[in-house]
Parts: sequence; structure tokens; C-alpha cells
Amino acid sequence: MLDAGGKDKILLFEKAREITDLNIDNKVYLRGLIEYSNVCIKDCLYCGIRKSNKNTERYTLSDEDFFQSAIYALEHNYGSIAIQAGERTDKVYISKISHLLKEIKKLSQGKLGITLSLGEQTLDTYQKWFEAGAHRYLLRIETSNKELYSKIHPNNDLHNFDKRLEALQNIRKAGFQLGTGVMIGLPHQTIKNLADDLLFMKALDVDMVGMGPYIEHPETPLFEAQHLLKTPKQRLDLTFKMIASLRILMKDINIVAATALQAIDKMGREKAIGYGANIMMPNITPTNFKKNYKLYPNKPCIDENTEECGLCIDTKMNLIGSQIGYNEWGDSKHFTNSKV
Ligand code: SF4
Repeated sequence: MLDAGGKDKILLFEKAREITDLNIDNKVYLRGLIEYSNVCIKDCLYCGIRKSNKNTERYTLSDEDFFQSAIYALEHNYGSIAIQAGERTDKVYISKISHLLKEIKKLSQGKLGITLSLGEQTLDTYQKWFEAGAHRYLLRIETSNKELYSKIHPNNDLHNFDKRLEALQNIRKAGFQLGTGVMIGLPHQTIKNLADDLLFMKALDVDMVGMGPYIEHPETPLFEAQHLLKTPKQRLDLTFKMIASLRILMKDINIVAATALQAIDKMGREKAIGYGANIMMPNITPTNFKKNYKLYPNKPCIDENTEECGLCIDTKMNLIGSQIGYNEWGDSKHFTNSKV
């Protein structure tokens, strides 16, 4: 990729900014993030809420807590929510999600757009959730390199690279706007791997991307490879370059300024907006549960209540001169343009 700190980097960021302004307005769209549950059937080697981590206190939000969060998003004109959880594929859970989706649509009179990030499911389940009212789905491939994928996941059927690819296709088949993403700065990951990740997203013709720096969690097996890591600052810088490069490659997609950026740099998300991202996900999970949804350590804002979180985003957006698209779904222009 480009030299670490020189002219090339400045040119890259400037070009990305120019393309964003031309294609995406000067608006940042919000997805109120609800971390619905940290129960997960999987054991990804990098993840703090993996099934085998016995130090995690497990929770699933009550319907009441869940709806309160959705109502908060509605009353504060967020336009959309994003529902995220560990992976579960049992029938009870699938029906529960369908029920929650239908209720949110009802209580918001269709005003709230809904993004899901609930992992690998069957085509039938994706169709059910799409019909229940969700219309965007994010499933991160984490790395598009099969060999590297096998180094960061257990080697079994539940963590199968080809199945994940198939799930991505099924999400699109079900009608969703399709999102994926990768971790940046993984042990064993090369710059070529990252360049291939960008080409993978382009070839998949995704509508949205959420990618962020890998942050090692001490209660996970991958922590053993920490000696192979770049510094957090280098991983952050690499993430900014990935965002800017992706914006140049895919002019009209939605790109998330991931929360993990903020775990390394307090203004990480805002900087990412300056380099091509256009989506923010303020965490509106009830404060007493936020601390238990720790995919990585140093998770930002876990002690802030939802109100404080919203105010903070408002202030920061004003600071960088971006406008927030209140009351708008902020769908991927790439998706809407492809339908014209
Ligand atoms: S990354 Fe997702 S699927 Fe994997 S263990 Fe964590 S929550 Fe579960």
C-alpha cells in the first residue's frame, strides 16, 4: 500500500473526501445500535463473547428493554436502528426476532429502518426476517482470505469459510441491502490480504461495509499471537487508508465509521467520516448491558447513558462540519442506484 506518513497518504484522503462529497452529500446517517444479546453458539478465536469465554455474563434483552431502545431511536429522530447479537439459529430465537421486527415496524408506523447483524442463517430465515420488516443485513467476512480465515476460526463446520460466502449470497437473494466487512491488522494478515479484501467487496458488489481495526482480547485464543501485531496506532492508520481506498473504489456505498476506531482514538470515528465513511452507530443498548457486549477490550462509551451518547455525536459532527441525516433511513445509494 502507500507510504506510512507522506504525501501519498494525504492525496489518498483528499481524493476519498472529494469522492464522498460528490456522491454521498455531506450527510452522516445514524443507526441506533441495539446489542440485543451476547449469547452465541460460535467460538471465533478473536471474539470476547465467544461461547467458550466463561468470564462473560450472558444476557438477552427483555422485550421491554428492547422496545424502549427502539422508541428512544424513534423519539430522537435517528431514522434507523441496527440490531446486533451473537449467533443463534434455533427456532425459538428466529421467531422471536421476527416478532420483534414486526412490532418495531408497528410501533414506529414504518418510520424506523432496520439493519440486522445476526450472523449466518439459512435463506429461509433471511427471508422471514426480511418479510418481517428488516431491509439491510451486515455479515462481515472478517477476511476474504480462506487460509487466514482458518487461522482465526476453529476448524469445523460451524466456522466454514465457504458457508459464510453462501450466507452472503443468500442475504442478497432474500432482498436485503448487503453489507460485509473485515478486521484490519490481524496477526498473519498481509497488506496484499487487505488489498484483496477491497477487491472482494467490489466483486461482491456490496451496498455497505463495516470494517475496523482488530483489537486483541486477552480472554481469547488469538491473544497468544499478540507479538505479531502492529501497534494500535498503525492498525488505526491502516483502517483509515482502507476506508479511503474503499470509498475511491466504491463511490456510492455506505461505509460505517466503526466503534472500534474510537477504542484506539477518541476521535477515530469522526476522522473516518473525514476519510470517506458516512454512517455512525450510536450505542442505544441499555447502559447496564453495554459492558457485557465486549467483542474487544476498551470498548468506548460503556458507562455513558444513551442520552449522553447522542449528545456527544451531535457535538462531534458539528465540530467536523458534517450534517446528520435525522429522520432519514440513509439507504445505500449504491443499492437504490442499481434499482433504477
Ligand atoms: S464474532 Fe460473532 S459469531 Fe463469532 S463468537 Fe463473536 S459474536 Fe459469536
